[in-house]
Amino acid sequence: MAHPFLSLDAAHVWHPYTQHHQAPLPRPIARAAGSWLYDTDGQAVLDAISSWWVTTHGHCHPALVQAIAEQARTLDQVIFAGFTHEPAARLAAALVQRLPAGLSRVFFSDNGSTAVEVAIKLSLQSFANQGTPRRLIAALDNAYHGDTFGAMAAGARGVFTHMYEPLLFEVARLPDPSEGDTVRALEALLDARGHELAAVIVEPLVLGAGGMRVWDARVLQAIRARTAAAGVHLIADEVMTGFGRTGPMFACALATVHPDLICLSKGITGGVLPLGATVATEAIFEAFSSSDRRKTFFHGHSYTANPMACAAALASLALFDEACEGARQRIADCHTWHLAALRNVPGVKAVRQLGTVAAVELEAPSGYLSDIGRELAAFSLQQGVLIRPLGNVAYCLPPYCTRDDELDRVYTVLQRFLAGERAAPLSTGGPVDD
Ligand SMILES: *Cc1c(COP(=O)(O)O)cnc(C)c1O
Repeated sequence: MAHPFLSLDAAHVWHPYTQHHQAPLPRPIARAAGSWLYDTDGQAVLDAISSWWVTTHGHCHPALVQAIAEQARTLDQVIFAGFTHEPAARLAAALVQRLPAGLSRVFFSDNGSTAVEVAIKLSLQSFANQGTPRRLIAALDNAYHGDTFGAMAAGARGVFTHMYEPLLFEVARLPDPSEGDTVRALEALLDARGHELAAVIVEPLVLGAGGMRVWDARVLQAIRARTAAAGVHLIADEVMTGFGRTGPMFACALATVHPDLICLSKGITGGVLPLGATVATEAIFEAFSSSDRRKTFFHGHSYTANPMACAAALASLALFDEACEGARQRIADCHTWHLAALRNVPGVKAVRQLGTVAAVELEAPSGYLSDIGRELAAFSLQQGVLIRPLGNVAYCLPPYCTRDDELDRVYTVLQRFLAGERAAPLSTGGPVDD
C-alpha cells in the first residue's frame, strides 16, 4: 500500500497549510485525467475542487499537454527583460481581447500572490510617479489575496496572518459586502481619507477563501462608480473568479464593471503550469513612461512569462472558445438542482452559488480551524471524492469537464455526511495517528 516515495516525502518535504505533527499521510498521486486523480494503488479520487481552484478543462487535457511539449522543444525559457517571445505577446493580446474594456497592458508574474503584489505596487507607484503620492489601500473584510506580505496585508487578518500582524502595512477595511454596507463605508472612507486612498482591492462577486461568500453585482458597480469619481483605482482580484468560474470569462463581466487593474492566475493556464498576470489600463502604464529612470517599475520574477506557461494559457483560451460555456452552464444548473435539495437538510446553515462555484455552510462553530470541515474531508476522501472545506464551509468547484453523474457523487457524499456517516478509522486515505 505505502509507496516507496512516501518515506522520502515524510523525511524531506514540507507541505503547504500542513501541521506535520498531526496531519494524515499525504495521498500519493500517480496520474490524473479529466476530473480524476489516481493514486499509486490505482484508486480514483474525484477532484471536486479543481486541485485548489486551478484546473479548468480537466487534468492532462491533450491540447494543453501538446502545447507544452511543442513549446518545450522550441523555447523553454528566456529572460523577459530586453527579450520577448511569441507565446507571451500572443497571450497578452488574447487576454486583452477577452478582458473588460480598458485593460490593455499585461505584466506577467508566476502566481496569484505576485499578481496581487504587482497590482498594489503599480497603483501606489503610479500615484507617486505623477507627483500625487497616495499610500492607502482599502480591502474587504473576509478577503483573501495570497500569502506574500502585501497580499497578506490586504487580506483579512486571522490565524493565517496573526504571527506577522505587526509587520503588515495599514489597510482601510471595508465590510464584507455579503453581510455589511460596503458602499456606505467606502463613502465615509472617501470623505475622510479620499486623498490618501490609492486603490480598493476586491474579489469580484465571490470572496473565495473567506468562505465562498457571494455578493451582489450592484455593490460592485457602486464601488466602481465611487472609486472612479474619486480617482481611486479599483483592483479586481480575479485569481479565483477568472476563467469562467462564475459563468462568464471574468466575474467583472457579470456586473459590466471595468477595473483599473485585474489580477489573474490559477485557471489562466488551464491549471497545468504556474503563471500570473496583472493587467493595467493604459493610463496606469503611461504613469510609468518617463525620461526619469526612477519612474520605472522595478519589479520582475525569474520565470516571468515562461514560454511553456504562456503556450499552455493560449491553448487553454482556445478551449474556452469552443464548447466550454455550455459545459459551465450545465455544471451551474446541476449545482442549483442539488443545492435546492440540500437547503433544508438539518445541519445545513446556508447554501450559496455563483456559476460553477457551489458552497454549503454547515452548522458548526465557524472558522478555519473548525473540526467539522476536516471530518467531512476525511469522510469524502474515503468515498473517493476530494473536497477541502474552508472551516465549516464545504464547496464544490469542479473542472468544467465534470459530468452530472460525477457531480452527483459529490452531493451524495455530502448528504451521507449530513445524515451522520463518518470516516472509518485508519482505512486507506483516512487520517492516520502519529
Ligand atoms: C488563491 C488566491 C490568491 C493567491 O494565489 P496563489 O497562486 O496561491 O499565490 C490570490 N487571490 C485570490 C482571490 C485567490 O483565490
